[in-house]
Amino acid sequence: MGNKGNYYLTTAIAYTSGKPHIGNSYEIVMADAICRFKRQQGYDVRFQTGTDEHGQKNEEKANALGITPKEFVDKIAGIIKGICVSLNVSYDRFIRTTDEDHEKQVQKIFKKMYDKGDIYKGSYEGMYCTPCESFWTESQLVNGKCPDCGREVKPAKEEAYFFKMSKYADRLIEYINTHPEFIQPVSRKNEMMNNFLLPGLKDLCVSRTSFKWGIPVTFDEKHVVYVWLDALTNYITGIGYDADGNSSDMYKKY
Ligand SMILES: [Zn+2]
Repeated sequence: MGNKGNYYLTTAIAYTSGKPHIGNSYEIVMADAICRFKRQQGYDVRFQTGTDEHGQKNEEKANALGITPKEFVDKIAGIIKGICVSLNVSYDRFIRTTDEDHEKQVQKIFKKMYDKGDIYKGSYEGMYCTPCESFWTESQLVNGKCPDCGREVKPAKEEAYFFKMSKYADRLIEYINTHPEFIQPVSRKNEMMNNFLLPGLKDLCVSRTSFKWGIPVTFDEKHVVYVWLDALTNYITGIGYDADGNSSDMYKKY
């Protein structure tokens, strides 16, 4: 069988805040089946899975156990990787968002977006619960109190970086409308359009200063990169994307 082309498949990466559940196994087995089938058909397949390891929840869990966040995520990532091995999953890379190559690229991506004007420094305003170190919106409050601990909250302001998501709304709507295959099934496409894009995108807060367990912003080290911006780039960092234009041959290939 000749090479039918390149095929890159990823799973969502599992969040390490707790023990894995059956859903993690379900997704990885489905993805593995697809990859094995594609290889059999003659595709050049690259298959990536892994773990999403930063963020406040992991830091809190580690604190509660009296260990470092790294010790905590090492343990959970080990269990998740162990499941992949015992299910004989044919992945090419098991990426962890604490891997050095990933962390370095996230820092470069954040800086590049800042340099290009897509990320700006502003401030985040909301109702703040001091013991929980959490911001809440008015609508999240329960009887005017913190929804997690029930204590009093007070209005507060925190310096943060924001991503200009609003700038991309028109381009996304146009692309999704002209590429019906881009989001499948159609019910998910409608959900994305009707609930997020058409009502208008708000700029997204992409840094945190209230905890430490994240990737530091290189040019402003009291900030760590918001975990979603960090984690979602794994699909490109894991195959060698480089923000300075020196991406690997593997990245270009897939
Ligand atoms: Zn609270």
